[in-house]
Amino acid sequence: MVYHSLLQFLLSGRCAACGSGSATGLCTGCRADLAPVERPCAHCGLPMPVSTCPRQGSTWVLDAVIAPLEYVEPLDDYVQALKFAGRRHLGRALGELLVEAVRTSPASWNVETIVPVPLHRRRFLERGYNQAVEIARPVAAALRIDLCIAGIRRQRATAAQAQLGANERRANLRRAFSVTRDLKGRRVAIVDDVITTGATINSLAHELLLAGASSVQAWAVARSI
Ligand SMILES: [Zn+2]
Ligand SMILES: [Zn+2]
Repeated sequence: MVYHSLLQFLLSGRCAACGSGSATGLCTGCRADLAPVERPCAHCGLPMPVSTCPRQGSTWVLDAVIAPLEYVEPLDDYVQALKFAGRRHLGRALGELLVEAVRTSPASWNVETIVPVPLHRRRFLERGYNQAVEIARPVAAALRIDLCIAGIRRQRATAAQAQLGANERRANLRRAFSVTRDLKGRRVAIVDDVITTGATINSLAHELLLAGASSVQAWAVARSI
């Protein structure tokens, strides 16, 4: 049944947001409502000039950030609906937006492996899917890059980062992820829905580097400014 309705949706050619006819995930009108990040810093994704780029700090290990859109209305509604209202098909539409940004960013061209940020098992069972995987799938398919899911786990169901201060976020994320996959020499891109402070993705990036990755960048649909 679920498969059938998914198939129907895919064949219907409807905008994932407003339901009007569209050949791609979001129609032209809904795309025009999204706010691009103006002149983003290649290292952190914040609009330039960045007063202090976090890449200069010792905890920031991401080589590059690609996050084309500001996390503001109506994009935040789509992300929330994908995560909390079971609107799984929005993942594909958001992934398509990310594909365009990644394709046009030379920093991304040597990436060999995509790692979606894992959900804790309990959250996964509640939700039935991982929104980061839903976003990453069309990216991996369009760019013909390996999608790496097995062997990368979230060990603890961390508290919602948005409600915490900077120090609490770091404590919350310490050893939040475990990587049992050999990534020796691999150039990796982590995929997520939104980058807020970057603490979550940096925490995962640390573990990927310990597992042998030669470089890690972050790709997300949206950036909190
Ligand atoms: Zn639309
Ligand atoms: Zn920066």
